[in-house]
Amino acid sequence: MRVGLGYDSHRLEPGRPLRLGGLEIAAMVGAVGHSDADVVLHALVDALLGAAGLGDIGDWFPDSEPRWRGADSTIFLRETLNRVAAKGFHVRQADIIIVAESPRLGPDKERIRQRLAELLALPTDCVNVKAKTNEGLDAIGRGQAIACYALVALAEPGEHHATQV
Ligand code: MG
Repeated sequence: MRVGLGYDSHRLEPGRPLRLGGLEIAAMVGAVGHSDADVVLHALVDALLGAAGLGDIGDWFPDSEPRWRGADSTIFLRETLNRVAAKGFHVRQADIIIVAESPRLGPDKERIRQRLAELLALPTDCVNVKAKTNEGLDAIGRGQAIACYALVALAEPGEHHATQV
């Protein structure tokens, strides 16, 4: 078993789309970034790359590249999953924490979980999404930013598991 940790954050501004975990979330603010600024997928990609010993998201999808402008981050996830699979690893589990003061994501977290399970080809109970505020502290607490932490577990080549999918 291998584990990887990922983290990402983006600024929030009014009038922009907010994408989290590959889903459009209804909100008054959206994240600012070179791609679609999906903090959940960016943190998840970094967790996967970390677990597989493959570096970080900036190594593979640099924000200096014009072709990633406005890119759908599910592309980053799919390419990352291919690289992880090419090394013989199998994704077993993902645990996600989204930190945002506004919008409140409690009502959306189950939908995000289902979508991530779909994207990772995992049973829903192998994916977990937690939504927290930052208790009014710092830029996240002021509603100016959103952050996400992701932890993933990978089975190594030949490792046997009861939850084979
Ligand atoms: Mg990012």
